[in-house]
Amino acid sequence: MLSGGVGGARFVRGVVDVAGADATTVIGNVGDDVEVLGLHVSPDLDSILYALAGLADERRGWGREGETWRALESAAALGGESWFALGDLDLGLHLVRTQALRAGEPLSAVTARLAAALGVGTRLLPATDDRLRTWLETPAGPFPFQEWFVARRHRDEVDAVRFEGGAAARPAPGTLEALARADLILLAPSNPYVSLGPILAVQALHDALAARRVPCVAVSPLIGGRAVRGPADRMLRRLAGGTSPRQVTDCYKGLVDAIVVDEADADDLDGLGEVRPIVTRTLMVDVESRRRLAEAALRAGSVVGAAADARPEERAAFGGQGAVPA
Ligand code: GDP
Ligand code: CA
Repeated sequence: MLSGGVGGARFVRGVVDVAGADATTVIGNVGDDVEVLGLHVSPDLDSILYALAGLADERRGWGREGETWRALESAAALGGESWFALGDLDLGLHLVRTQALRAGEPLSAVTARLAAALGVGTRLLPATDDRLRTWLETPAGPFPFQEWFVARRHRDEVDAVRFEGGAAARPAPGTLEALARADLILLAPSNPYVSLGPILAVQALHDALAARRVPCVAVSPLIGGRAVRGPADRMLRRLAGGTSPRQVTDCYKGLVDAIVVDEADADDLDGLGEVRPIVTRTLMVDVESRRRLAEAALRAGSVVGAAADARPEERAAFGGQGAVPA
């Protein structure tokens, strides 16, 4: 599964709940990564880790439950950077990761170690171990992702998104193998431009998805044409010309076979072409609703896979192996 941070993490929990930790591999976004107070922060990987470890603050929607802020208060009092909220518990993780990276350990290896230490059985892989950073082109100039998102509260309209290091970024160890071995590929209801975009900017991952032999199912991050939170709807309106399911799938051209959309978007399914719409309730507020959405996405995979199996000429075009979902 490909996932961004908070929205993705909710869905990842549902999928792990239904399919099992062993059966799930998550490829996470690193375009949001940022250096703060000398520390390497990977907000999207951490959102997934905290969610799967049961440590996330669900009411606030990000960071850790029971967090305190004394280190950041101290840094601020000393004139240090304090624009990016790093809690005391969170800082502990960033210290461990930063030390390991400085010692030459790849991000994928550190992430695996952190997951194991937190008792997370799901495999979590960064899209790349190389440096890849998301930049936003706005009327006020270009901004690195976190400066736009956090410091400027994503108030600037976005004219373009670009991925520094994207062209040269190699897929992290395990990512291509996971895609090659998957029975089903899922795109979490994450921001298409700034959460899944940076993952797909790794050319080899994009190509692996384009050459898939199994179904790929996306879940729309929009409900009734609006983002549950964050700027996805504004970005789609400005960059793709609308907030219908078709504008979401247009972000994943040639990469998805089905899209799970909310009941509130059921009347707005024109222009999807070959992409099959699956309508259900997609708001994740608790264990039950996360589970239901995960089940709908897994079912969509079976339906699309069975349809592909029924068309032998298509199987031959893919090399004769057929698309067999789990
Ligand atoms: P971030 O990296 O923390 O910004 O998180 P993501 O990009 O993974 O997720 C943000 C997206 O998740 C937003 O566009 C939201 O609209 C979407 N989202 C959040 N909660 C839900 C939900 O319950 N259902 C659906 N369908 N989308 C959601
Ligand atoms: Ca993010």
